[in-house]
Amino acid sequence: MLHCEENEYISCNIIEHGFDAQISSINLCCRVSKDNITSKLVLFPNYRGERINWENFFQITSRLREIQKRGGIIEQCKGCIYLEKREWDSENYINSININNWIKCNANCIYCDRKEHKKEKEYRIYPLIKDLIEKRYLRNNSDITIAGGEPTITSDFDKTLKILIKNNIRPVRVLTNAIRYNRYIELGLKKSIVNILVSVDSGIKETYKKIKLTDKHKNVWKNIAKYVENQKEPTLVKTKYIMIPGINTNKNELNAYMERNVESGIKHTCIDLEISAYIRMSKNKEFLKKIYDLYIYSKMIGEQMGLEIEAFDRIKLIESKLLSE
Ligand code: SF4
Ligand code: SF4
Repeated sequence: MLHCEENEYISCNIIEHGFDAQISSINLCCRVSKDNITSKLVLFPNYRGERINWENFFQITSRLREIQKRGGIIEQCKGCIYLEKREWDSENYINSININNWIKCNANCIYCDRKEHKKEKEYRIYPLIKDLIEKRYLRNNSDITIAGGEPTITSDFDKTLKILIKNNIRPVRVLTNAIRYNRYIELGLKKSIVNILVSVDSGIKETYKKIKLTDKHKNVWKNIAKYVENQKEPTLVKTKYIMIPGINTNKNELNAYMERNVESGIKHTCIDLEISAYIRMSKNKEFLKKIYDLYIYSKMIGEQMGLEIEAFDRIKLIESKLLSE
């Protein structure tokens, strides 16, 4: 391929080729930048599952790409850690989709804002995915994330996962609470198309109940172990520990969490901080340092037990803040 300087600029894959299917709109992205701005850049407002005219879609996203190409930064993306300078192609296709259906869940986590959306009606995502596949706009090497609420209990989940697996579109990341076991996730893990991330946030049964407001601790670790048994590669099933100040920000809980991971055959776990705590406390250096120290502690004990420990979004932001001071 010819090197073309004009196509080398700061952007990210989502700006170039992605979208975020939200509860009642199609947005660009759902990430939070360093400046605490959530990228709720709405591309199609009041979306209820209607057929999308992809030519219109690409016209809208081309305008966003132009901002980046001219050396600007989209307002909602300022300070985002995912921006990178490299050569981008100028073709119109999709290779990054977030599906965020917030309506249904079988847990009730204390930090979740899903309660705001409970009364809204779910729209169908399967026709949109099928249309993209049939029109050959969705690349095989796409990053698809199916998140929640709890995605496995939404009405289109099985069908959507099935069509993605059948068409070998990968990787598909499912953010599930693992309260319910899903056989299409199992199939995707066996084929190495699907990977999952389960946020358990605790190692002790009582803490799990305090956070999730449901008593499924044992069940969840059993399902995690079963998913692990069926994965084709060792780190397709990952867990996550979201630190919630005053509830699980202590070494005892982290020790128990790491032990549960080892017992379940997990090889990789992620550490994060609850998003609203981060936003509230992002200027409190002492707090950030305490959270960061706990992350370093978890990394130390996790690695001693043979686990890979990953710093997730908020921890990465804290790290870059502390290091830049
Ligand atoms: S730069 Fe960041 S906020 Fe903007 S679209 Fe990319 S990932 Fe989302
Ligand atoms: S499992 Fe996820 S969607 Fe469900 S209540 Fe917890 S954080 Fe919210």
